[in-house]
Amino acid sequence: MDFKCSVSRCLEDVAWQCNCPEKFKFCLTHSKELMSHSRLKKCLAGNIKDKYLELLAKQYKNALNHVESDCIKLTQEMICEIYNCLKDNCNYLKKKKNEINNLILSEQKNKAETIANWANTLSILQRGKNQYCLSVRKLLGIDNSNIKIVIDWEKLEEELNTLRKNFEESCKKINGLEKELKNSNETNKKLSDAKLKKKYLSQENRNQFSVEEFKKRLSNLKKSDKFKNLLAQLDLQDFQNRFVQSNEYIFKVFISNDNKCIFICEI
Ligand SMILES: [Zn+2]
Ligand SMILES: [Zn+2]
Repeated sequence: MDFKCSVSRCLEDVAWQCNCPEKFKFCLTHSKELMSHSRLKKCLAGNIKDKYLELLAKQYKNALNHVESDCIKLTQEMICEIYNCLKDNCNYLKKKKNEINNLILSEQKNKAETIANWANTLSILQRGKNQYCLSVRKLLGIDNSNIKIVIDWEKLEEELNTLRKNFEESCKKINGLEKELKNSNETNKKLSDAKLKKKYLSQENRNQFSVEEFKKRLSNLKKSDKFKNLLAQLDLQDFQNRFVQSNEYIFKVFISNDNKCIFICEI
């Protein structure tokens, strides 16, 4: 049905229609033209504004009816897909049940138990459904607020992944630093041990003489306390008890030819 104003090039909404066989229509602006026409043709005009608006709304709503019908079609396809998945699962489980029957009959209890264990680990209801629900909303949703929820959710998930990644990297860095600190502590300990050892050795060296120097010092000393003190510095076996604490006198000192042993004779 044509709802254009019969006045040439007029695009306004129509408000009147006459009862001529041509059913001329006029907008409010062209009411004068309508009156001239009615006088001339002796026709009557009726208000069609409500009818026009009703038809206009119907025409626009028609676009939504198409969407509605498409939504139902797409939803049916998805339901069909889910139903097929359920059917496949039921068939698979039926097959597994038959397999268990045969295994029990052929005394292969272990294999039947393996199937039961597999079933126990599936925990279908614990599976994450959120991602799927969001995907369904994204696929079927037509409301912008719904789509926004999905986009927000995806953004949050992305942010969460970034945070998780950063956290893992930080943990790795901390582990690396801890290792470095441990190594550095070990190195410091080694250095400090080496320093202590060096200090100890230098102190010890002060109490040690070369064999030649020892012989030279021996020849310079007679049977005196200085002689004893010199021998005491060497921390010889039993020397402290026998000669220093018991206050014994040294009669003679021999040094073996290989310079490895020293013999001290008491009086
Ligand atoms: Zn008319
Ligand atoms: Zn008009």
